[in-house]
Amino acid sequence: MTQIEVVQGDITQLKVDAIVNAANSSLLGGGGVDGAIHRAAGRELLEECRKLGGCETGEAKITKGYNLPAKWVIHTVGPVWEGGNYGEDELLASCYRQSLALAEEYKISAIAFPAISTGVYRFPLERASKIAVSEVNKFLESDRLLKQVIFVCFGQTAYDSYLKAMQEIT
Ligand code: ADP
Repeated sequence: MTQIEVVQGDITQLKVDAIVNAANSSLLGGGGVDGAIHRAAGRELLEECRKLGGCETGEAKITKGYNLPAKWVIHTVGPVWEGGNYGEDELLASCYRQSLALAEEYKISAIAFPAISTGVYRFPLERASKIAVSEVNKFLESDRLLKQVIFVCFGQTAYDSYLKAMQEIT
């Protein structure tokens, strides 16, 4: 059985196989969780990211974790919230699916996600957390390698929202 956990904290501190970065399409760093991950991983992360040639919204790419406790960073680009009629839900779901597919490909057994798109990209938190929980659940129906999925919440509001989504969906 895969363990799904909701924790509050800083994703850069987690010692898991892979942490997911809510990146922007340049993959060259930014604010929020992206800035924190680049600061903690060091310049080598940026150097590897430069070679990737960016990333489309809804897609994901993987790099090493360098100075992070995590071995890998999976960079995914969430949608900017434009009111909900521009495919935002499906694009966010795709971020989770593609990140999980990479995790499977790299035989990752523990992965941590931040609340993708819910910061500067303004995706409503409750809606985003339901998508996150439901995509992870769907994926786990067929995956055999993942042992642990952690939703890392930066603050109480996000934490409450994820717990509610977990109760509603599982
Ligand atoms: P986006 O551009 O995808 O909205 P942000 O980084 O602005 O990305 O925000 C995504 C989420 O990550 C927000 O819920 C924010 O509170 C959270 N966050 C910011 N820093 C960290 C961190 N160090 N660890 C975990 N989550 C974080």
